[in-house]
Amino acid sequence: MSKGSFSIGKLSGISINIDYSWFFIFLLVTWSLAGSYFPSVFPEWSLLQSISAGIITSLLFFASVLAHELGHSITAQRNGLPVKSITLFIFGGLASISREPESSGVEFKIAIAGPLTSIALGIVFWALYFLLPSPRFDGVAEIAFWLGLTNVILAVFNLLPGFPLDGGRVLRSIIWKVGKNPQKATKWVSNIGRVISYLMIATGIILFFMGYTLNGLWLAFIGWFLNSASSGSSRQVSLQQKLQKYSVAELMNTNYIKIPAHISIEEMYNEYIRQNKKSYLMVTSGSDTLGLVNMNLLRNLDKKQWSIKTATEVMTPLGQLSYLTPEAGLIAALQLFQEEKVDQLPVVRDREIVGLISYDDLVDFLNRKA
Ligand SMILES: [Zn+2]
Repeated sequence: MSKGSFSIGKLSGISINIDYSWFFIFLLVTWSLAGSYFPSVFPEWSLLQSISAGIITSLLFFASVLAHELGHSITAQRNGLPVKSITLFIFGGLASISREPESSGVEFKIAIAGPLTSIALGIVFWALYFLLPSPRFDGVAEIAFWLGLTNVILAVFNLLPGFPLDGGRVLRSIIWKVGKNPQKATKWVSNIGRVISYLMIATGIILFFMGYTLNGLWLAFIGWFLNSASSGSSRQVSLQQKLQKYSVAELMNTNYIKIPAHISIEEMYNEYIRQNKKSYLMVTSGSDTLGLVNMNLLRNLDKKQWSIKTATEVMTPLGQLSYLTPEAGLIAALQLFQEEKVDQLPVVRDREIVGLISYDDLVDFLNRKA
């Protein structure tokens, strides 16, 4: 979770977060509904009625945005991609799916699931609008109509074919399937995304000067947001292309220290850490690797324990370690470092540690190559 957000609970194992910037858009939507939309449709309503209807409608709208993101997220989970969180923020919702899909088919399914959810919601709200008896339920029917319309608009907007919008991802999966080259596909849809973002900024400015001040500004803002998102994604793609050539084997450090399983923390420190200034030690027995000791984690341990506890007792066993293979790409390495939030990872081949790779070395390398 980023600093500017807080969690309101979990759905399907996914943390649902609210970014502080979301309150701004929530107030804006509520204010425009309560201050202008409802008073124009129902002039007889009291201020309190308009405000209540505005708040309810606005909350249901953002619940719809959340449902859209859940559509993406649950499809991702079903295809084996873990989803950490969904965050509602000023420009809508964002599902943080931990990995990029490995096949074009999965990419297609995840991308289309959001807009399909929005269209389904649109149909449900419009059905409500037609089914609710008039005039007793006119207020509720109006809310349902507005929600139906905005859900359909949400689906259509997201289906615009530029990355990183859903439509861009759908198009990317098709170009990827046909051309068999995901990097090239991303480059294409990122460029389309940039064109769409410029068109939105231009249209926004025109609307602004035509007197549609707020809508114009808003459209221009979303265009600007999309623009930075699409150039970010194409930067990432070119970095990926550069890094494809390198594997973990080229960066890993094979000059690590092996220690016997029975020695105490004190001996470990005095005999190995102090002179070498290393913080990771490999615990071995004969030719077998048993686990890894992270000295940084032991510094806080009570000094009395230092002479009692052995390496085996304080190590992380090999079976519980997240590790990389020597053949793994550097992008995979970077992802694992970010997921595990550690500064060293073991490199394992055939259940045996063959090296260590450090986050600092990886970042240094990326800075030199990117
Ligand atoms: Zn979406």
